[in-house]
Formats: sequence, structure tokens, C-alpha cells
Amino acid sequence: MSPASMTYLGIPGYAIFWFLTALAIILFCHRIYWLFRYLSLGRKEEGFEQKGRRALSTLVTMLVHRDQLKYFTPRDRASITHAIFPLGFFIFAVFYLIFVVIGAGFGVSTTLENTDFFFYYIWIIDIVSPLIIIAALWGIIRRYIVKPTRLKDEQTAEALVILLVVIIIPTTYLFKIASDIALGQPPAGLGTALPPISNALSNIFNGSSISSIQTANTALFWGNWSAVLFTLVFIAHSRFLHMIASLLNHFFRSPLPRGALSSIDLETTESFGAAGITDFTRKQLLDLYACVSCGKCQDACPATTSGKPLNPKKLIQDLKKHLLDVGPGLLKAGSSADKSTPTLPGGIISLDEIWACTTCRACDDICPVYVEHIDKIVDMRRNLIMEQASMPEPAEAALRSIEERGHPWRGSTASRTDWAEGLDIKILDKNSSTDTLLWVGCTGALEERSMHVTRSVAEILKLAGVDLGILGSRENCCGEPARRLGNEYLFQMQAEKNIETLKNCGIKKIIIACPHGYNTLKNEYPRFGGKFEVIHHSQFVTRLIEEGRLKITGSTDGTITYHDPCYLGRYNEIFQPPRQVLKSLPGVKLVEMEANRWKSLCCGGGGGRMWQEETIGNRISEMRIEQAAKTGASTIATACPFCLQMFEDAIKARGCEESLKAMDIAELVARAITPET
Ligand code: SF4
Ligand code: SF4
Repeated sequence: MSPASMTYLGIPGYAIFWFLTALAIILFCHRIYWLFRYLSLGRKEEGFEQKGRRALSTLVTMLVHRDQLKYFTPRDRASITHAIFPLGFFIFAVFYLIFVVIGAGFGVSTTLENTDFFFYYIWIIDIVSPLIIIAALWGIIRRYIVKPTRLKDEQTAEALVILLVVIIIPTTYLFKIASDIALGQPPAGLGTALPPISNALSNIFNGSSISSIQTANTALFWGNWSAVLFTLVFIAHSRFLHMIASLLNHFFRSPLPRGALSSIDLETTESFGAAGITDFTRKQLLDLYACVSCGKCQDACPATTSGKPLNPKKLIQDLKKHLLDVGPGLLKAGSSADKSTPTLPGGIISLDEIWACTTCRACDDICPVYVEHIDKIVDMRRNLIMEQASMPEPAEAALRSIEERGHPWRGSTASRTDWAEGLDIKILDKNSSTDTLLWVGCTGALEERSMHVTRSVAEILKLAGVDLGILGSRENCCGEPARRLGNEYLFQMQAEKNIETLKNCGIKKIIIACPHGYNTLKNEYPRFGGKFEVIHHSQFVTRLIEEGRLKITGSTDGTITYHDPCYLGRYNEIFQPPRQVLKSLPGVKLVEMEANRWKSLCCGGGGGRMWQEETIGNRISEMRIEQAAKTGASTIATACPFCLQMFEDAIKARGCEESLKAMDIAELVARAITPET
């Protein structure tokens, strides 16, 4: 650790040092080489530009856990420990590389230790070491004594070994420096400014003979270095591989907007979706190595918590086990062997797991190491639908309805303009233009309850003097249900059709009351040439109120709780505008459910689940209604037609129509500005 600590080892000491170091590096590299070969079985991906920016962002994210801060609560001690570990790992890794391997190993440590960098580094490491020890001790207590639900299967020997090593390394480091100080040989360059913790610990050696301190010093050096080399080998051979893989995973994160799924080139692709493990991209396979098994995703997943067979953590672990099991064979046989038999959907991952996902994004968002679950689930759905024509019957009926009638509501007899009767709204054609298009959406136009919301939105906009138009029968399903269910072909067909219509009508600005349509038009259409200004109605109404173009005259008494729709909140970070709208209503008391904003619970209707039966476990929408009822609110407000419909059904199923109503924010505003309606 310092030249003093190495020179007295003599030639045999140096030889052993280099022998052990070289052995550990060989074992580490051998394993990494094979893991890399398994990764190379995946498909190549393009689009990882801006490497400098990516590297900087990875470093910052690792050091401060930037994207996890929003989930932090003072009671969440696990997040604090998870923030300390990577910081400690980084600090110690740099220390050992520079000052031990290069400095001491190559005999240049005197030069290195006389730098300011070394001085400050020793002080930082001295202060950080006790924090790492405390965090690891807390990790052991939580995992093996407290045992929270999400760690119930995680009392493994593997986890205990790494936590113990995490304690041993900084402890032996501190005592090694303490013994250097006791021997009167502190690292060169420190002068009299000795690091506080090791300096204090050096008092332990008071009264000991020089020879016994010397023996302890040597033992501490070898104990520390052996633990470091063991960790290096252990990381590569255990799931603690995530310490390295998570960094790469952040670096190679998807360049697409958060709400966009990857596209398939329908012209050139020969087989669609993921049938076997080699159909995933290399980044998707890297995700599997990065998973730390923390269980945060399973705690957040509405499918898991409602008793469905889908568990995002298990899904990732099952895929990883499968990759490691079949990887050697596939490398021998050539990866194409994997493509000949669909082993994933219906095999490694059951069909019930695949179809249970609501694509709510709770798992992707909360994962501290940026594992993406949804793209893998959708890829397996793509294979089921586009290659095997296998899907639940109601989903098939919805997709057929989009193909044949341009919308998924096969039972609806309404036309796309029935909702607008008597409202005098311009229906656009090639010869008419408008400043603002109201994209009505299939649900807003054809589902009875949502038609009322659409009327409210139109009334508000008209009252505010917005030059408004709709596409009427020329509007088609945006394709979102098709894409989330896995029918990429149908989605792209819908997208191209709609983009052409929008361009033909010269549309620049679009208002949408459906977060699913909003996400699709805003984040997914640009990839197909459709770039428009897309605004959710909650944002637009907020703007109208702020500009004084809407006068709220009536009062809307009552306590309201707001439900964040997944595709509005977690996908597009629109949390504040709907709340601002509700707060602007006189007499309204806004109360929050415990699971709000990023932590909001899905309504159960996303990812094409709206068109499937929920026959396993509890109904997610009813779980959410229960949370709303706990607040004492008389209204659960939302800003999504899917959520509204799911909640209407859940309220009826629970028989609480008298005490709780589900309403869109637009209905509440329309009632306050035009009480007579
Ligand atoms: S997207 Fe939602 S439902 Fe699907 S696995 Fe993730 S948390 Fe579960
Ligand atoms: S996928 Fe992410 S959130 Fe889920 S267990 Fe693995 S590391 Fe934790």
C-alpha cells in the first residue's frame, strides 16, 4: 500500500505479490472473455453515439445515483447503502490500480506518493472506509436478520461472502495504514497531516513491540491484498458481476426517447421478435449481467403485487441463467441453432408472464442499474404474434378490429364524430386548416364514458377561443395497442397512414387527452417522419388558466385524489400540470395517495391489457381504488381514458359508487367553467 510496506517484503514477497496478482487477473479475464463471448451471441445494435457524454453521464450517475434520488426517502436506508457501495468501489479500485499495482508493483510509489493527488486521496479513502464498513454491516443485518419481503430469497452464501469482503478490505486497509503510522513509516507525502481514522486506530498498537507491529503490518498487507484479489475473481464468477456490468449498462443505455420502443425494419428483417436468447441485442443481454437482484422491480410491479405469474426480477434472472446454460453450446454449434427452436416464449418464460405485463414502466424506472424489462417482454410478444400467430383471443379481436375498422373497440357502433354532436367543431379536410388539432383517439371517440371527457375537452378549448379542428373519420388508431401487444407491422401501418393524413392537413400542433396516444405521437411517430408539437390536455389547460384565457367561475367542492397515468407520469414526466389544474378549482382539496408520481400504481389497462381478461390474482384497478379510498377522497381524478374506464369498472366491482367517483380532470374543469352543462 505504500513503498515502505512493499520493500521489506523482499524479492520473495514481490514474486508472491506478482504471482498472486497475475493469477487473479488471468482468472478474471478468462471468465470475462467467456461472458463477453456469450454477449456476442446477441444481435448487434447501432446508435451509441456521443461516447464522451455517455462516459461522463455514467460516471456522475454511478457516483451520485442521480436517477434514483427521486425514490429516496429518509426511511429508505437500502438506497443510502447502495449509493455508498459504488462510490467506495470506485475509490478503492482507483487506489489499488494506481498506488498498489502501478506504484508499489513497479517500484514508482515514492514518486506517486509525493503528489497532492495522493495526499488528498489518502484522506478521502480514510474517511470513506468507515462508511463502507457501516453500509456493509447494515446490508448483512437487513439481508440476514431483518429480511424484508423483496430480499426473502436472497439469503445466499454468495451475498454474505461479498458483504464480508466489503468489510474486510477497508478494515484491513485502515489497520494497515494505522500500523504504518505506529511504526513511524506513514505513507510518504503525508508529512504530519496524518489521516484521522487510521491515525486514531494507530493507538491500538501503543505498547506493542516493534517486531509484533511489523508482523501485524505484514499480515494486514497480505490480508488486504488477498481480499482484493479474491474480490476481483469473485466478481467475475458471481452475480456481483453487476459492479462492472451496470457501468457498461448505463453507458450503452438506449438512445431512444424514454417512451419509444425499438423499431423493426420490416423490409429487411427475416424473423420477428425474440424466439431464442440470441434474438436479443447485445445490450439486452448485458442487462442480464447487470441485474443486482435487489428486487426493487418486483416490489414495484403491479403484476407481481397483484398475484400474476410475472415477476420482472425473476424474468431477468431466468433469462440470465438460460444464457449461461446454453451459451457454451451455442458458441460451439453457431448461434443459429438457437433460432431454429423458439425456446423463450412459452418455454423459459411462460405465456402468462409475457401477457401479464401492463408496460407500466415501474420496473425499468426503479431499477438502479438500468435494466430494461419491457423491451424484452415486447420482443417476445412480437415473436408470438408475428411469427407464431399466438395471442390471447380478446387481444386478437382488438388487433383484428384495428386492421378492419381502424380502432380496437369492436363492440362500438358509434362513429368517430358522434361525441361532437351540437358542438360545432370543424372537421378538417384537404381544403380546411386549423391552428390546433384535437386528436380524439379511439377511446375518446368511441367508448361511451370517454366520449363525455372528449366533449369536456372540446368545450374548454372552444370557451378559451382556441381555433380547433378534428380529423373525424380520417383519424385512425394511433397503433399504440398494436405496438405494445407486439404487432409491429400493424403499428407501422397505422403510424404511416396517420402521419400522411396529418401532413396532408398541414397539422403542426396536436392536443391529446390520451397519454397513450400522446406518447406514441410525441415519442414514436418522429422515427417514421411525423414530427409535430404534441401537447397533453392537462398541459394545455394549465397554460390556458395561466394565460387567463379560462375563467374558473363555479366551485367544485370535495376532496380529490389524483392518479398519475403511467404513460403520462413515468413515461413523460408530466406530473405537475394535472395537479395544477385541480388546484385551480375553487373548493377542491387535493390529497395524495401514498403511491404517487414516479411511484404511482398502474390502473392495469396498459400494454394491451385493456383488451384482455384479468383472470389471475387480484384486479390491479381495484387495488388502486382501494388506495384512493384510503385517502378519504370522494373523487379519483385522472387524465387518461384507459385509467378512467378501469376505475369505473373497479368502483362498480367494489360497490363503492356512492363514496367514490372516477373523473377526468377535463370533466372537473368543464363543470367549473360551465356549471349549466
Ligand atoms: S412494465 Fe410494469 S407490469 Fe410490466 S414487468 Fe414492469 S412493472 Fe411489471
Ligand atoms: S432488474 Fe434491476 S430492479 Fe430488478 S432486481 Fe435486477 S437490479 Fe433490481
